[in-house]
Amino acid sequence: MLHSPSLPRRVARRPACRPAWRVIIAILLTAACDNPTAVRPDFAYNPTDLTNGQLYRWSIGARVRLFVEPMGAGGVDLASAVQRAVSAWNAVPQGREFTLDVVTNRDLADVIVYDRSIPQPVVTGSCPFNPSGAAGYTYFCPVNGRAERLRPLASTVLTTALVIRVDMTTTATQAALDALVAHEVGHAVGIGGHSPQTTDVMYTRPTVRTPTDRDRNTLRNVLGRAADITL
Ligand SMILES: [Zn+2]
Repeated sequence: MLHSPSLPRRVARRPACRPAWRVIIAILLTAACDNPTAVRPDFAYNPTDLTNGQLYRWSIGARVRLFVEPMGAGGVDLASAVQRAVSAWNAVPQGREFTLDVVTNRDLADVIVYDRSIPQPVVTGSCPFNPSGAAGYTYFCPVNGRAERLRPLASTVLTTALVIRVDMTTTATQAALDALVAHEVGHAVGIGGHSPQTTDVMYTRPTVRTPTDRDRNTLRNVLGRAADITL
């Protein structure tokens, strides 16, 4: 089932009694613009399960800049969780299909990561932004086959393609936050699905912070296929 471009689709998984990890996208029918040819592993789980069959990823060779909204000192540390996730996922592409970089200028960020305790740092666009009670929430809004660019607050430019909101009140330990952030960054690099296997980062309630071979093969499969939506 496909939705018209004017009807964004939100996909939510909400296990009983626990906040859900979610990915939100809207669906368009526009075809891909680049078609990598490398032989790729099969995916271990469906990377378009949450996106109604629509495959999304960054353009090949993209440098993806992430900005982490500053947090007060103490307790678990969001910035270090993002740095770990960036290092972990950067190890997956074969031949620099993408490179994740943490940057210090919000106005240059392709991806903004923030905690629920601060105001939403980006003016969202055409798709509804509704994280509700999700522990982790990854948002982008496709328009004509590309993620709509969003304006960070206090900025005049449209730069941000993707927003990750985490709820650090759900992660009592650094390891738990690391797992949550690794999971959301997995969505941010193109995995629009969840693994049924509890040991995978892309399990709905992840407990590990390093992508497994199953996670890696699933992303490599995504990177080797034509995209319906380019971030
Ligand atoms: Zn998820």
